[in-house]
Amino acid sequence: MSKHILAWTALAAGAAVGLAGGFLENKPLLVLGIAVAFLGLVAQAHRFRCPQCGKKVATDRYGNGQKCPHCGGDLE
Ligand SMILES: [Zn+2]
Repeated sequence: MSKHILAWTALAAGAAVGLAGGFLENKPLLVLGIAVAFLGLVAQAHRFRCPQCGKKVATDRYGNGQKCPHCGGDLE
């Protein structure tokens, strides 16, 4: 659960920093913000994999307490 919050926080913080960098025309800040937001996105994408077998799981099935269609394992 905390992992999800961390990913969202990174995404929000990265977007905010990137936005600030854009407003201030501060290129390093802009790049940093984009990088952090991208990391947050990667962390989010990682959620949509089965924690048991690592295969991709349809996002609309995720988080409803369903089983992995590949291995039948519990989805976190
Ligand atoms: Zn699985």
